[in-house]
Amino acid sequence: MEKGAKSVLILGVPFDAHSSYLRGAAQAPGLIREALRCDSSNLWTEDGRDLGAEGVLRDCGDLQLGENSYASVEPGVSAVLRQDQPLISLGGDHSITYPIVRALAKKIDNLTIVHFDAHPDLYDEFEGNRNSHACPFARIMEEKLARRLVQAGIRTMNAHQRRQAERFGVEVHEMRNGVDLAKLNLASPVYFSFDMDVLDPAFAPGVSHWEPGGMSVREAVAHIQSIPARVVGGDIVEFNPARDQSGRTAMAAAKILKEIAGKMLE
Ligand code: MN
Ligand code: MN
Repeated sequence: MEKGAKSVLILGVPFDAHSSYLRGAAQAPGLIREALRCDSSNLWTEDGRDLGAEGVLRDCGDLQLGENSYASVEPGVSAVLRQDQPLISLGGDHSITYPIVRALAKKIDNLTIVHFDAHPDLYDEFEGNRNSHACPFARIMEEKLARRLVQAGIRTMNAHQRRQAERFGVEVHEMRNGVDLAKLNLASPVYFSFDMDVLDPAFAPGVSHWEPGGMSVREAVAHIQSIPARVVGGDIVEFNPARDQSGRTAMAAAKILKEIAGKMLE
């Protein structure tokens, strides 16, 4: 396998205006950082990489989103990508993945997207909004920004989205059937999009759309560790602090962040 990156960039994207049900995810980036730095844990990945070492995690702060905030995500991400290191974005609602992948696809060809979510997010439009957080993967596939889209954890498939998945050739691994990423012949480079609601609400109540029957944190971490390809970009989206009274969803997001970063450095 190719050598991993020397450092990983972190960027907050405090945007939740394309949420269909509850706002709040815009408050997530700062709280994920706080959980990451919390003295109750440390900055080591499970496979023994010290993310606290000088220069390993480079925090680029939060994107400054002006009046036309959604339109400013793509150029903002493009500016950060000039550093030529893998980037993990902290959302925000899932609509941000479309402009992020657009920015990345301008630099890197042939992306394989691995998408963890309770929802396929393949609606052509949702409540009149084609940029809804229910639609990003329809936009990405229409523009052919990825060579392959592999979804896991899905447990809300409906007839419209099943047609969309067929239309775009999306490889949907529903939660009820499980998935072994190591057996999917995933080719580098991989973009990894992690919607926190792929986790069971018992482990991660701080999401807008509670969908029972999801992954444990352990299962999600094991899947990340099993990705048999180089991860060059990723996002952690849909953490809604307004529903995270115990703070456990923030800690789960920080754990996922550490393991994705570890994978990028591998
Ligand atoms: Mn989603
Ligand atoms: Mn979701």
